[in-house]
Amino acid sequence: MTSPTKIHHTIIIGSGPAGLTAAIYTARASLAPLLIHGNQPGGQLTTTSEVENFPGFPEGIDGGLLMQQMEAQATRFGTTFVQGEVTEVDLNSVPYAVKLDEETYRARTIIIASGAKAKTLGLPNEKDLYGRGVSVCATCDGFFYRDREIVVVGGGDTAVEEATFLTRFANKVTIIHRRDTLRAAPPLQERAKSNPKIHFIWDSAVSEILETDKREVRGVKVTNLKNDAVSEIPCDGVFVAIGHLPNTRLFSGQIDMDESGYILTRNATETSLPGVFAAGDVQDSVFRQAITAAGSGCMAALQVERYLEELG
Ligand code: NAP
Repeated sequence: MTSPTKIHHTIIIGSGPAGLTAAIYTARASLAPLLIHGNQPGGQLTTTSEVENFPGFPEGIDGGLLMQQMEAQATRFGTTFVQGEVTEVDLNSVPYAVKLDEETYRARTIIIASGAKAKTLGLPNEKDLYGRGVSVCATCDGFFYRDREIVVVGGGDTAVEEATFLTRFANKVTIIHRRDTLRAAPPLQERAKSNPKIHFIWDSAVSEILETDKREVRGVKVTNLKNDAVSEIPCDGVFVAIGHLPNTRLFSGQIDMDESGYILTRNATETSLPGVFAAGDVQDSVFRQAITAAGSGCMAALQVERYLEELG
């Protein structure tokens, strides 16, 4: 149990691989962490069906199950969990304050592991088709599209890099971009444009995801934004790669962030505030993998330990 008046050694915000790994490490260091789940307990991995690239699971593991196992491990060593979403954070003075509706929790250190969410197209059946042909992660799901046809939406580094990666599996990858020039870095563009498996549809938006009777993707309807012409592209998978949004609104104005809202870190997970550390996708717009998030959660925990030791 926890009392709202108590000052904790550390509060961890977020329950994805970064937050739970930080909890395992700080709990084992006898720091009795308090972890706040957030609105998506387990984080983004709970929306992935099979995780095949997390070391230690040669047969793969269900994303939700992997997170349950991490939570069980964090519980075993004495993490206290609080269900709910943080409504306000006050990082102006120590102890730092974290509010959930009526309750305020205080701590000498904070680990921000609130993650990020993939931007979606906002089409009516898009969310229902996640794991049934729609994906936001080529590294996670590309393997399931061997000898298939895929559409990638977006024109940035992620879209172009994922399209290139997906040609390892797919027969044909079509990049659909809303403008006629890519935002991606020139070397990535050149590599994609010279790849015979990659095709481009310019100045166009996916206006509908077409599905089979079994609720699996069978294609997309594409609208040309210059002349409104509509065409149908058959495909087995739609990879949406139009960017991510870090979950950092709560910290806005209190901690240094880049122009996209990712928390800036140095020396691994230190932020611009003493005793406040950030781990996982909330500070990483590039790698965004469960294993890298877990790794940075571990680093944040070790840095919390050292910081508290130095404080005495
Ligand atoms: P991004 O650079 O923001 O690009 C998003 C792309 O999606 C843009 O082409 C954008 O179109 C398009 N888009 C946005 N909203 C859309 C919508 N509603 N419908 C259709 N298209 C939409 O995002 P990112 O590619 O994920 O990259 C994020 C950051 O990670 C960047 O800083 C990038 O450099 C970095 N990154 C680096 C690497 C690498 O170095 N290897 C790999 C991946 C990511 P417009 O072009 O018209 O705006």
